[in-house]
Amino acid sequence: MQNLRSHMEDSYLKYEAPAPFYKKVGFLEKNLYMGSIRNVACPCGFKSPVTVGGSMRDFLKDSRFPFYCETCGIVDVNVAKDDLYCPKCESRDVKQYGIPPISEPPLINRGYVSTRNYQADAKGHLCPACKKKTMEFTLSETCFD
Ligand SMILES: [Zn+2]
Ligand SMILES: [Zn+2]
Repeated sequence: MQNLRSHMEDSYLKYEAPAPFYKKVGFLEKNLYMGSIRNVACPCGFKSPVTVGGSMRDFLKDSRFPFYCETCGIVDVNVAKDDLYCPKCESRDVKQYGIPPISEPPLINRGYVSTRNYQADAKGHLCPACKKKTMEFTLSETCFD
C-alpha cells in the first residue's frame, strides 16, 4: 500500500509538472502581445498618453506605436498595416519614435517601449510642443487585453 501511494504521488507530480511551464509561456505571450498605454512627458510641460501594441484579439490587424506627424504631433500609428499613416489627418508623412531624425539614436540596444519591430528608448524624443529632444516615455503603464 505504501508503494502504491508513493507511485500515485509520483504520477501526480509528473502530471502536474508541465502546468507551470504552460502558464509561464502564456504569461510571456501575454506580455509580448498585450498592448499598453504609456505616457510621454517633457520638462516643458507637454504630456500625452500613447498606445503601444494591440490587444490579443486584434494584434494582427491593429498594433500601435507612437509616431510623429508634422501636423498632429505624437500619434498612435497602426503598424500592423503595410501602409503607415497618421490616424488623425491620414498623412503618410509620419516618423517613428525611437530612431533618428525625431529621436536620439538608441543608447541601449533594447526597446523600452516596443511592439513588433518597433522600439524606442525611454529618453531623447522630439517633443511636439517645444521641438526639443527632451520628451520621455514614463514608467507608468496600464495594460489591456
Ligand atoms: Zn496627422
Ligand atoms: Zn517639450
